[in-house]
Amino acid sequence: MVMVIPFNTLKPLYQKHADKYMAAVRRVLESGWYILGTEVESFETEFAEFIGARYCVGLASGLDALSLALRALDVGPGDEVIVQSNAYIASVLAITEQGAVPVFVEPDEYYGIDADKIESSISERTKAILPVHLYGQPCDMERISEVAAKHNLYVIEDCAQSHGAAWCGKMTGVLGSIGCFSFFPTKNLGAFGDAGAIVTDDIELAGKIRLLRNYGSAKKNDNEVEGVNSRLDELQAALLRVKLSYFEEILEDRKRLANVYLTHINNPAIALPAIRRQSDHVWHLFVIQCQERDALQHFLSDHGICTQIHYPIPPHLSRAYERLGYHKGCFPIAEAMAEQVLSLPLYDGLSMDEQMRICDLLNAWGQLEC
Ligand SMILES: *Cc1c(COP(=O)(O)O)cnc(C)c1O
Repeated sequence: MVMVIPFNTLKPLYQKHADKYMAAVRRVLESGWYILGTEVESFETEFAEFIGARYCVGLASGLDALSLALRALDVGPGDEVIVQSNAYIASVLAITEQGAVPVFVEPDEYYGIDADKIESSISERTKAILPVHLYGQPCDMERISEVAAKHNLYVIEDCAQSHGAAWCGKMTGVLGSIGCFSFFPTKNLGAFGDAGAIVTDDIELAGKIRLLRNYGSAKKNDNEVEGVNSRLDELQAALLRVKLSYFEEILEDRKRLANVYLTHINNPAIALPAIRRQSDHVWHLFVIQCQERDALQHFLSDHGICTQIHYPIPPHLSRAYERLGYHKGCFPIAEAMAEQVLSLPLYDGLSMDEQMRICDLLNAWGQLEC
């Protein structure tokens, strides 16, 4: 019988601190106050402090964070937003939801937007650049900020995978105009349901998003703008506060697990993730590349190792975006990545023995009759 190693499991992370989570749930339920109260306010203060931002606004999801950020910056129909071609689809959905046009730029070897290719994609209608710190590693924020400043563009960071990741010592989220976070349960800082937030140093921008998330009103029945319902609830905020209190440990643990892979995988047919000198990677995903990815995934699966692909279809080839008129060959770098990337198990509770079993199998790949 092969022992199965799942791709992910969220229970151990909760179980270790079950008492604290239960106390938080009890506190909220017994307070009798469930929407926009002291837990959300405290989480906003604590998360802003953790990131090093002035303001944080809790929202219902990461997609809402991106959508409301674009909306608050007046990105609308006809405007163009530059985004990398290997982005997760949500980053692109936020752009098209505003009626704006995504302009794709190919990624660099670190899976971030290739900063050297941005300038040639800027037009008179370009309003913003939306770098996605994919897999937990910051994009080249120095070059991106330079280009943005030169052309007077907003920078909206998609930090859904990069809580706590830093570029030259400063955390993602405060490297542009606004940072957008998701607390979907599988993210490094995950809630126990849907949740999201924005951070910014701009008081006006934070205020706009605070209005938008609550029907456009700061005062009951006084609706200043056409808002939405995108509130972070008290229960998720209270649970997130617990996780944030030991989040540094979670990140340290992810780095330790990633290092095991980095030091023990040594198969020339498998490319390990490239790490930027200036960046502090938080390893939301540990992604390898292999030309025969599908065969490798089957081989691992036959030996009980579950893996996933992030992401098999780049947004420009998604059925949802047929109307944009792209076809295979438009963004060959992102398309090749979609065919070659493979994410390995990486979570609290993954043992050294299990990781060594994965490494041994990866090193035997192509050398064993299986
Ligand atoms: C998860 C994710 C989102 C969307 O977050 P939700 O909370 O699921 O809406 C956006 N961008 C990236 C890069 C993500 O990984």
